[in-house]
Amino acid sequence: MARIGAHVSISGGLEKSIERGEALGCEAIQIFTKNQLQWRSSPVAQSKADRFCRSWAASGIESVVVHASYLINLAAVDATGPRSVTALEEEIERCDTLGIDDIVLHPGSSRGRDADEALDLVSERLSQILDRTRHKRVRILLETMAGQGDILGRDFRQLKRIIEGAGWHYRLGVCMDTCHLFAAGHDIRSRAAYQRLVDQAEEAVGLDRVGCWHLNDSFHELGRGLDRHAHIGEGALGYEPFAFILNDPLWEETPCILETPLDSAGHARNMAILRKLRGG
Ligand SMILES: [Zn+2]
Ligand SMILES: [Zn+2]
Repeated sequence: MARIGAHVSISGGLEKSIERGEALGCEAIQIFTKNQLQWRSSPVAQSKADRFCRSWAASGIESVVVHASYLINLAAVDATGPRSVTALEEEIERCDTLGIDDIVLHPGSSRGRDADEALDLVSERLSQILDRTRHKRVRILLETMAGQGDILGRDFRQLKRIIEGAGWHYRLGVCMDTCHLFAAGHDIRSRAAYQRLVDQAEEAVGLDRVGCWHLNDSFHELGRGLDRHAHIGEGALGYEPFAFILNDPLWEETPCILETPLDSAGHARNMAILRKLRGG
């Protein structure tokens, strides 16, 4: 079965994320390993990692994925570029210490430059990072983006170009975000349309590279390029696309993570809806 869960906070300590996930009945969680809006970071102390790993092992949570800092932009040609490379390497180190295998990463922003050149720079930097961390198993999952402005990753062609440019490295994958895909023009509201999306992903990067789903309804209509998440069933996507994903044997053991707003009942109600849509 697909593993359902939510993005949860680490406030109070990394192991608190496990408690929060358990309280919600999560089978998978996503966390930031540090403040996602600050560059500053430090390695995870072994004692903290041990506490986290003990809590995780004693819980019903099967998968933990990390979302990389929002500041990282591997396509940047100013000082942010090298800074991003360092930050992603540090993120890989932290995940390795915590026993986490997957990092979700926004592909970056071309900031007005030629998109293909920007994508090639991302490939080059990813290759270097993966090479320098070659003894780690941590994978980088490039997230499908809504296509706003200069943001890279709006379509499978762009994600394919990055992965291809990095020599189809086995530690590169993709995270599919339902809200972003819909904003970028993928209509997944009928079974046939959902199947077309799956076929496109298979054709572009191969389905074994899809390491995570972000399950978010979309506040905005199809193809608007606008990234605003809505509660499951309350946006333009409705319930059906989530049922297609959660009952598709393709996503056996794949983390399916809510990043829906924390207002009203927050994740608890959305978790209940996903459980129902999955039929158990
Ligand atoms: Zn994201
Ligand atoms: Zn989003």
